[in-house]
Amino acid sequence: MTSFKDLEFKGLVDLKDHDPELFDLIEQEKSRQWRSLELIASENFTSKAVIDCLGSALTNKYAEGLPHARYYGGNEVVDQVEELCQKRALEAYGLDPEKWGVNVQPYSGSPANFAVYTALLRPHDRIMGLDLPSGGHLTHGFYTYSKKEGTRKAVSATSVYFESLPYRVDPETGLVDYKQLDRDAGLFKPALIIAGGSAYPRDWDYAKFREIADANGALLMMDMAHISGLVATGEQASPFDVCDVVTTTTHKSLRGPRAGMIFFRKDERGFEGRINQAVFPALQGGPHEHQIAGVATQLLEVMTPEFKIYSQQVKKNAAALAAKLTSLGYTIASGGTENHLVLWDLKPQKITGSKFEKACDAVCITLNKNCVPGDRSAVTPGGVRIGAPALTTRKMVESDFEQVATFLHEVLVVALKLQEKSGPKLKDFVALLDGNAELKSIRERVNKFVTAFPMPGFDPKEMKYQDPMGPPH
Ligand code: PLP
Repeated sequence: MTSFKDLEFKGLVDLKDHDPELFDLIEQEKSRQWRSLELIASENFTSKAVIDCLGSALTNKYAEGLPHARYYGGNEVVDQVEELCQKRALEAYGLDPEKWGVNVQPYSGSPANFAVYTALLRPHDRIMGLDLPSGGHLTHGFYTYSKKEGTRKAVSATSVYFESLPYRVDPETGLVDYKQLDRDAGLFKPALIIAGGSAYPRDWDYAKFREIADANGALLMMDMAHISGLVATGEQASPFDVCDVVTTTTHKSLRGPRAGMIFFRKDERGFEGRINQAVFPALQGGPHEHQIAGVATQLLEVMTPEFKIYSQQVKKNAAALAAKLTSLGYTIASGGTENHLVLWDLKPQKITGSKFEKACDAVCITLNKNCVPGDRSAVTPGGVRIGAPALTTRKMVESDFEQVATFLHEVLVVALKLQEKSGPKLKDFVALLDGNAELKSIRERVNKFVTAFPMPGFDPKEMKYQDPMGPPH
């Protein structure tokens, strides 16, 4: 038998040679990203600098605890990485370190939110967040009703451990119904009110939220995950003036790696210790320092004048898309957008968001089905959500987004024809997509159009699959 000493050292072998199967999958995914119109509002393309951090030796290090108070040795370098990230996070949002602190360790947005609840609430405390079908997020407390069991069903851990009463958008205007929130908060007396959402195309009235929270003795948290890049650049109102806690992801409009952050007020209420404890040791183990480094380097970029111009362009592009779809006779929830996303209500066209999403997938347009105002269930959403951050990163401007809207219109025309043939069932509809000549023609034009734009993060010329039409089948 070969002795351990005689075994070849394989620690420097490239993935390509180490695991060709996995390497190939990554190359396929790069090709998909490069030749698709990426319109998922929560996605973006990170820079090569961010990807360098993610693929760095920092991933090897255990660093349980906080800088200079760790449970393991050897943290003299990662302490500096994490402190740099904290410092830049406060700077990026113009926060005074005497008044605000930040924990940059949450693995992502959902753990960040749950850490806040763990820190500041007791089990079964009451919370109020925007209802999921109104554009809220699962982690803000969402129940469904199970007909089979005849009971309400807690979908996220938030609704397992806390009691939630959602507020909604007005079905006519698509705007948060602050009157309903005010009335219900007066009865429900929540311990925490959560602003923010995943599919809300308008800015938030923080003063109103504060007023309602104060009238009922509630804490106020903003989950700015979607708009954190726009907040950092002043393109959306700042939640920091009035909120007690602000959480965020870092991979949406902020354009960093997948991660989360929690900002908390530093005052006599002692949020700092409670939140830090909730992140570790209550919920997480060792922080992902490679990810924290990626956030830090992205925050450096966020503070540049170029990122401000990018954020402005994101908004302009979303507005151009909404305007073009409106001019084509379509219905945009809330009548437009003030941020990075557009909610397209497909109910007037009598097609579900699920079917349109599948039809778009067939032509390399990536977006997601989404509830629109008036929808009560998240299971059969009446529209789609379209976001501008990723394609703006690829340097598209308003005229390009008008072309994107034209592609979407073309897909919808074909989808409506197919639905006439297939009838209402999604399965029958999907069966007609494959091999459809009109969709194939749109897909080829989409591939050609999008591959003319630059791709951040990796060089398309070094990819295994460089054909704009995709890898050979
Ligand atoms: N909060 C909001 C408002 C979100 O939109 C999302 C994700 O889409 C999250 C939290 C959760 O983030 P993650 O998927 O990183 O856990």
